[in-house]
Amino acid sequence: PANEAEAEAEREVEVSLDIHLAHSARMYDFYLGGTTNFPADREAAGRALAVFPFARSAARANRAFMRRTTRLLAESGIRQFLDVGTGIPTSPNLHEVAQRTAPDAAVVYADNDPIVLLHAKALLHGTEQGVTAYVQADVRDPDALLEAAARTLDLDRPVALSMNALLHFVPDEAHRIAERFKARLPRGSALVMSHLTADFAPEETARLIQVYTAAGTPVAACSSAEFARFFTGWHLLAPGVVATPRWNPSPEGGAEHVTDADAACYGAVALRP
Ligand code: SAH
Repeated sequence: PANEAEAEAEREVEVSLDIHLAHSARMYDFYLGGTTNFPADREAAGRALAVFPFARSAARANRAFMRRTTRLLAESGIRQFLDVGTGIPTSPNLHEVAQRTAPDAAVVYADNDPIVLLHAKALLHGTEQGVTAYVQADVRDPDALLEAAARTLDLDRPVALSMNALLHFVPDEAHRIAERFKARLPRGSALVMSHLTADFAPEETARLIQVYTAAGTPVAACSSAEFARFFTGWHLLAPGVVATPRWNPSPEGGAEHVTDADAACYGAVALRP
């Protein structure tokens, strides 16, 4: 193993999965065409797709948003990344995008779903110069999560914190959580977020929320004003708050054909002044 984080990952992991209950990470994996999902996840995802045909395109647009934001921040000089609610690995993962531009970038992934821990090895094969690590942690306790991340990251230097398609799963706590992270990150840090909105397809989104809530996963949508509030006091990068495919589209991103309704999420990036 190239570093301590990899050595840690190669130790046996024992996790307990309740595969009879649908989980958001595994439903999301199903939307993306992945194979890390079980019948309960596929049934719930099928019910979601029946009322919300945008789930697949929204998930893809969200992954593309992650890649564009990561590349841009690496190009602008950020060398530390903390990706919370990272999900089941897809390719390319955030560290691959960051380390392609900046081989010395340090990347910490965090999620609270044990299935992500089970697949974390795929998140840990980075460059020799860089570092990657995975922590199992709950976004609802930002201080504990940051303490774990600080074993790998220097929290006195800028960090790009990404919470993509995550805070809609913690209704009522989302703004408190974001503010706590913002208070702990130094000047020059970045906040990258995407979040479900009902603004583009109100009826379908209301039904999607019902399906998730019935499956035991509360989820909430936000307006553009509520989304903008996550970034209060920080400097929003152009173009500001937009549907994820509208955020600095790149030719290889293939986002031109994705409508706002297909994307279903707002996205934005802000820097701490
Ligand atoms: N960020 C990825 C995956 C989004 S799916 C992307 O944008 O493509 C949402 C992820 O958030 C899932 O992996 C789920 O397990 C995780 N998650 C949900 N609630 C969480 C919590 N309270 N703490 C940490 N992670 C959480």
